[in-house]
Amino acid sequence: MAWKMKAAVVREFGAPLTIEDVPVPTPGPGQVLVKVKACGVCHSDVHAADGDWPVKPKLPFIPGHEGMGIVAEIGAGVGRVHEGDPVCVPWLHSACGCCEYCVTGWETLCPCQTNTGYSVDGGYAEYVLADARYVGLLPPKPDFVTLAPITCAGVTTLKGIKETEARPGEWLVVSGVGGLGHVAVQYARARALRVIAIDVADDKLELARSLGAEFTVNATAENVVAKVVEQTGGGAHGVLVTAVSTPAFTQAVAMTRPRGTVALCGLPAGSFPTPIFDVVLKRITIRGSVVGNRQDLAEAIAIAASGQVKPTVHTAPLEDVNDVFARLKAGRIDGRVVLTL
Ligand code: NAD
Ligand code: ZN
Ligand code: ZN
Repeated sequence: MAWKMKAAVVREFGAPLTIEDVPVPTPGPGQVLVKVKACGVCHSDVHAADGDWPVKPKLPFIPGHEGMGIVAEIGAGVGRVHEGDPVCVPWLHSACGCCEYCVTGWETLCPCQTNTGYSVDGGYAEYVLADARYVGLLPPKPDFVTLAPITCAGVTTLKGIKETEARPGEWLVVSGVGGLGHVAVQYARARALRVIAIDVADDKLELARSLGAEFTVNATAENVVAKVVEQTGGGAHGVLVTAVSTPAFTQAVAMTRPRGTVALCGLPAGSFPTPIFDVVLKRITIRGSVVGNRQDLAEAIAIAASGQVKPTVHTAPLEDVNDVFARLKAGRIDGRVVLTL
């Protein structure tokens, strides 16, 4: 085992990450050390590094919660995984296992949870520690690069789609066709939903159409709400918001059909105005949705492994992480960038 490993480290909010040699961590009881092969770059990593959210990570930290690799070492008492197993290390790093949320499958709401690449170091490194109970199990000999985005974008959007309660044959709007949105389109198709995709970039809408979206709207060029209401004959049954833009949230509510549900996944800093009259009279449900539990992750992996969902990925070396962040902020990445190690 090497003593040092290469990692991308956030030392100051809003400042470029630094590539450093840091000590390789040692797995404690219940933990595993994963040799990272690939780690997707989620927009949440940008929010983390910029300190965008009310609860901030403690500096310095290593971001990354779409890390995939091979178990290199196991700590005491680990039985679920073994050395050599391929696993992924998701945002939900660990939870208490016994609170009202944990015992009802809502471990993502556990007040004692830790989060990979946020409250504990993540996958922008050659090795990452994980809690053996919370890693995602991968199929044998996985394509780490292509599957990496399933670790967050996959599980988050599969769960978010479930949370809209849209049923086969009904309309689902995916607002924001970035890393999350482009896999959301595919999970929605896998669930026999009719998909409308919204973004501010035409190339992303083209990607959405190639992945099965039936209808697309450019939010900068057109009246998105009117277009969606017209196309769906009265509004979408479900709307999944992954856009990093607050106006998209208000529009999402306005394009929802009476009795429909809006699931909010995007996390731009700020708030959005909500028209009380419309929400009440149309009996609209507005719901936050945060990643997914371990079963959601297993399902997201299984659907991707079956070939029904295939992330569009571009690889970059770890050293390019600041450039990748800049391109994400500018909305210039189609699909997901995956750092290779
Ligand atoms: P991304 O940058 O890859 O994609 C965002 C997309 O939104 C881009 O394609 C961009 O063009 C589009 N967009 C911008 N303005 C828009 C508008 N007005 N209308 C429609 N689309 C618009 O980011 P990502 O990695 O897909 O993450 C998206 C958001 O989801 C981030 O805020 C991230 O933090 C959040 N997130 C939440 C969870 C969760 O559990 N809730 C999990 C992962 C990521
Ligand atoms: Zn994420
Ligand atoms: Zn708990």
